[in-house]
Amino acid sequence: MSKSSKAKKSSNKIWALALHGGASTGASKNDKHAEKFMENLLKEGGKMLGEGASAVETVKAMVTELEACGLYLAGKGAAPNKNGEFELDAAIMDGESRLAGSVAGLKGFKSPVNVANLVMRETPHVMLVGDGAIEFAAKQKCKKVKNPEDYYTPVKYDLFDLDERKMTGTVGAVALDIEGQLAAATSTGGAPDKLAGRVGDCPIIGSGTWADERVAVSCTGMGEYFIRANAAAEVSARIHYERTSLDVATRAVIEDVVYLGGQGGLISIDKLGRIAMPFASGSMSRGSIHSNGELLVATI
Ligand code: ASP
Repeated sequence: MSKSSKAKKSSNKIWALALHGGASTGASKNDKHAEKFMENLLKEGGKMLGEGASAVETVKAMVTELEACGLYLAGKGAAPNKNGEFELDAAIMDGESRLAGSVAGLKGFKSPVNVANLVMRETPHVMLVGDGAIEFAAKQKCKKVKNPEDYYTPVKYDLFDLDERKMTGTVGAVALDIEGQLAAATSTGGAPDKLAGRVGDCPIIGSGTWADERVAVSCTGMGEYFIRANAAAEVSARIHYERTSLDVATRAVIEDVVYLGGQGGLISIDKLGRIAMPFASGSMSRGSIHSNGELLVATI
């Protein structure tokens, strides 16, 4: 299923890309800086897709950069768990083949989404956790974090109007390529102050991350609720069985999360390149770019 990263012949077909940097409780003084970063990243990803990159290689590249930038509570910006350890989750899914890879509670590697991608490509499995994930990542020569205390720079939010900014930080990408293929990827440091061993929705295929022939979805918010709503796959199921639009399906899924008591949002793209990014939280860092020239970046 692997597709060349070399540019395929470009065509007039549509492509689309959406990114998120986490759902949160409100506005922060960091938002403008993060929005500029996301705008540039969207342009970079749009260029990749326009030149023929596949959806799956594009979402991997986007999430790798979101992990490395230190602006979000994922990758470099992740926060430690209650034991002071950095345990990270990530997933990637290719819609065409429905191949998927994920890691949970990964310790000691710079790019969890890269490890998830290798799980998808190099093993017959979907998910690796704990020591097995570490052993696999080391064998694959993934880049290590030598000294966690020096490498990680947990994001501190400088709030305008709230005492505490909560539940922010997951990063994600969804894309439609010019061949009409969809893909999704998500990466997170998880919920701030989580218990050791806690796994959120992000690496659970169907809960926080999903891509098939209909739609690609990446979620953010209180992961426990997204797991219980099976949120990401539910978007596809609603489109499939209810013959409904992306907009209606995604809003219904977020309503279900809220019904259960949760908050958060998602980004999604369907096979026609329609984009929906609903959220039910104070804010959700998000952006999208489309081959029709539309570019959007927003937080509130
Ligand atoms: N969904 C993530 C988790 O629960 C957190 C987030 O989106 O900020 O692990």
